[in-house]
Amino acid sequence: MKNKQKICILGSTGSIGVSTLDVISNHLDRYQVFALTAHSQVHKLAAQCVQFRPEVVVVGSATAAAELQIILREKKLHIEIMYGPQALCEVASATKCDVVMAAIVGAAGLPSSLAAARAGKKVLLANKEALVMSGQLFIDAIHENGATLLPIDSEHNAIFQCLPRHYNRCPQEHGIHKIILTASGGPFLSRNLASLDNVTPAEAVAHPNWVMGRKISVDSATMMNKGLEVIEAHWLFNTPAEQIEVLIHPQSVIHSMVSYLDGSVLAQLGNPDMRTPIAYGLAYPERIDSGVAPLDLTKVMQLNFQAPDFKRFPCLELAYSALKIGQSAPTILNASNEVAVQAFLDGKIGFRMIDQIIARVMDRLPTSEVDDMAEIFECDQKTRELTNSMIALVAA
Ligand code: NAD
Ligand code: MG
Repeated sequence: MKNKQKICILGSTGSIGVSTLDVISNHLDRYQVFALTAHSQVHKLAAQCVQFRPEVVVVGSATAAAELQIILREKKLHIEIMYGPQALCEVASATKCDVVMAAIVGAAGLPSSLAAARAGKKVLLANKEALVMSGQLFIDAIHENGATLLPIDSEHNAIFQCLPRHYNRCPQEHGIHKIILTASGGPFLSRNLASLDNVTPAEAVAHPNWVMGRKISVDSATMMNKGLEVIEAHWLFNTPAEQIEVLIHPQSVIHSMVSYLDGSVLAQLGNPDMRTPIAYGLAYPERIDSGVAPLDLTKVMQLNFQAPDFKRFPCLELAYSALKIGQSAPTILNASNEVAVQAFLDGKIGFRMIDQIIARVMDRLPTSEVDDMAEIFECDQKTRELTNSMIALVAA
């Protein structure tokens, strides 16, 4: 029997974190949980500790740590408790850890994902914002430190499966014509455009096919999620924006495709359940049972496709232009989106204001070269301040 792989799950209480633990729970002969992290959901984290017995856990604050300590003591569990952003980096780069599932949402996940890359870990990347923000610097950290990067985002996982096994990051050398990212179109694909001004956060997070965290659900409703994924695909597979196409496919059965010069199109299909890409990432290059039911195409019956409408989904266009502008533009796009989405979820701005605010921020902030991570974080911070001041004006 091989040694068990020791896993650190950054963001274990989130949607991806919970799905990861579900897959692991069926393969305890292969995997052992080394560390779990959560921002504030102490009770949920405590329940995960009871089931998976990690060596160490990280929470967001000293208060949360104290609360967790009381619960774990009652349960007679001896687990090291740490807190704060630096602790996330420590567990992600710990010598004892083999695999890191990077599933924190947003820019908050970048330092720990990067720490895992710099420590040469096998990094299962769900946290797309980290890659969108830091692009080439993140990819360089992976390569320079002998880390392995496996995409967990379902589209990128699908593309990874449809690419040649020894893909050398030169699409032309492999005869690749383009990458086709499928998109469900979210809950507002066919809703009357004028009525989008008045949609509520509850309507926006009600995704037709996937159960996900609130931020990515709003991103799916604006299609910024697909925009971020276009940028993510660019960095993961080294393909230019012109070779990445978005195709609306409301059933979410085809998770993405690679089109080759000879006319072949390879696709990966499956039920829309994140446990499939998670299991693929965990076991790669082997395959394990993910717990997902086999796809029954007779039940699906129809697979539909349409081109995306940039007027309905301006965020998609904003993301393409950020990728084409390059430099710090994707960092600005990502930070202004995070702040605007949170303001929408908090009831401060309407749904249609999300894209308008991002567009104004992108117009106002000049882009510049980003040579190191300090510059990325500085740009992220500056963008957040400007976006917040614009929101304050709108909300006044
Ligand atoms: P979620 O909101 O359900 O969970 C987020 C997790 O991050 C939680 O465990 C939370 O405790 C933690 N977290 C939040 N803020 C934090 C902070 N400031 N510091 C430390 N930890 C913090 O989100 P999710 O849907 O699981 O998504 C996680 C990531 O995976 C996102 O980047 C998302 O884009 C990506 N992703 C998710 C899905 C999906 O199906 N849910 C699919 C593809 C990609
Ligand atoms: Mg996705």
